[in-house]
Order: sequence, then structure tokens, then C-alpha cells
Amino acid sequence: MDNQARQFLFALLNAPTPSGYEQPGQALVEKYLRPHAESIRRDVHGNLHAVVNPGGKFRVMLSGHCDELGLMVMHIDEKGFLYVASVGGVYIPLLQGERLVIHSAKGPVPGVIGVKPVHLMDAKEREAAVTKMQDLWVDIGAKDRAEAEELVELGDVATIDRTPLELPNQRLIARGLDDRIGVYAVAEALRLVAREKPAVAVHMVSSVQEEIGLRGAHTAAFAIEPHLGVAVDVGFATDFPNANPKQVGEASLGGGPILHRGPNFNPIVYDRLARAAKEARIKVQLQPIQRASGTDANAIQLSRSGVAAALVSIPCRYMHSPAEMISLKDADNAARLLARFILRLKGNERLIP
Ligand SMILES: [Zn+2]
Repeated sequence: MDNQARQFLFALLNAPTPSGYEQPGQALVEKYLRPHAESIRRDVHGNLHAVVNPGGKFRVMLSGHCDELGLMVMHIDEKGFLYVASVGGVYIPLLQGERLVIHSAKGPVPGVIGVKPVHLMDAKEREAAVTKMQDLWVDIGAKDRAEAEELVELGDVATIDRTPLELPNQRLIARGLDDRIGVYAVAEALRLVAREKPAVAVHMVSSVQEEIGLRGAHTAAFAIEPHLGVAVDVGFATDFPNANPKQVGEASLGGGPILHRGPNFNPIVYDRLARAAKEARIKVQLQPIQRASGTDANAIQLSRSGVAAALVSIPCRYMHSPAEMISLKDADNAARLLARFILRLKGNERLIP
């Protein structure tokens, strides 16, 4: 990871990009890739497309989703407290006591998700986590509704106030590594292939609205009409104390990108990814997925009359918490693997299983 790549990644992780509100992140991706892509554009849905060799007859789509989980302001009460709904699969018991930032038209508004003092809880309250969004309130310090409405509008989105932290072994904790680390990996893959002469067109997409139903990849794939598409997302690491590899297969941080087999994935593309990894001496891990994956690879596979799809995952601990953890080594190796895979393509591959 060079200095420029590092700066890009940390800027992206600090940007707010809840589903449907990704444009601060897309602006960073666009700026970073402009010197490397032959064409770059944002579409009406908010997806960013960066293309190398746009004239290539065989089209490869790479997709990482730029959106992260968030909260949306639904109601302001007469005392000036806000009530929020989750944007994407937020795990509600983790929210109480968290600081957040509401991204309003007038700028960032800080607040806290309130919590009753433990001293005043009865025994039942102390044991049971809050699991209903409507039982949570956001305190922005406003004295009444009018003052809160000066600062915040219904439909504004918020993110948990957590900045990235680097740990030993190239490990990183941050909110929304799912899937800004995937955007980083596909952006780096595009930078690597841009230096060579790929035989195929490479359409890198920083997609939107994945967390609310793979919506950006759906429209982007329709526009690109790829022959082959690879999504990069975070995958389940199972190397923490109460993880169960019997559920999803084993994977560890720093153990290499995860490849997946299963009905969502084209077996020929899987084989070629595995071969590219071997050639480039990149260690990979294998996790089967027995049904449609909850990733952009699902939308890509079902686009138009079908696309040969694959998924490359970056092992992640504590997924969908405000402090997800990955190894930067795995992200960089995912980028190298994708570049090698793409540069091996001649553009006449038969992908019918
Ligand atoms: Zn994701």
C-alpha cells in the first residue's frame, strides 16, 4: 500500500456513506481514480463507474459497495429528542451510549444515543438488551423541537462517530469496512490493470445501496452488460473466541482473500480465480455459500440473461458492528489477485458451465 492509497482509504473510511447518501464517498473514489481510468462517470442512481480499455469487446465488472450502515431521522418529539430507523442491518443492542453524527444540510450535528443509568434499571432491564429501535432516542442537546428542527431535518442520515484505528499485524478497526474496504480493493485492482494492457474492458463500480437490497449493482450491471462480474465484499472471519466454522467454513484475518463456491458463482470463474492466486503466490481461503449470497454478486449473476459471477471476500471480524476488523494485507492481496485474474483473460473465454 503506497502513501496515496493509504490516504484514499482513510479518507473514505472517515466519509459518511449510508445507503442512498454515498456521494461524499463517491467524490473521493472519483478523484482517486481519475488519473488511472480512461472513462469515469457517476450514474443517476449514484453508482460510480471507472473504466479501463472501454473499447474491449469482453466486459468484466468489478464491484465494491460504497454504502455503509446508518440511521435515519424519522421523528422529532416536543422535547427535541430524535427517533431513528436503521438503514441496513444494524444490530440494535450495540447502539446505546454510542455517539453519532447526523449529516444535515447545514453540516455535521453531533449527538448521543441515550441510555438510562444502570443504577435506575430494575433487574429485568439490566439483563435485557434494547432490541427495538423505537425504544432508543437520540439526544443532540436541543432544548425543544423547534431548536432541533433548526439543526436536523427528517430524512437526514447519521453514522456512528468512530474513526479508524490501526492495530498490530496490519489490522485495522473502523465502522463501515463493509464495504468501503471492498471499494478500496477494486479501486486498487483497477490501478494495477491500468498500468498494463488488459485484453478486456474493465468496468470498476463503486456501487450504492447494497445494504438495502443490492440495488446499485442491479442497475450498474444492467448498464454495463458484463460477460463476467466479480463482487468484492467482507466475509466472515471465524478466528475469534465464539465463532463457529461449522456454520460458514474457516477463515482468519491475514489468511488471504476468501474465494467462494456455490450456486451464486460460476465454476469456471472460480477455477480461474484459484489458478490466478496460485500463479501470483497469493494464499486464499475457501468458504462455500449454499444459496444466493447477500452481496452484489447476487445482483450481477441475475442481471439480464445471466452473468458469470464470482465473489472475493476480505475476512472481517465483528461484521455490522461499529468496530469491524480486517487485515490490510488481505485487502491488498485481493487487489493483486483480481489484477492477475483480469490480465490472464484473453476475451474469448467460454464461461458456460
Ligand atoms: Zn457488504
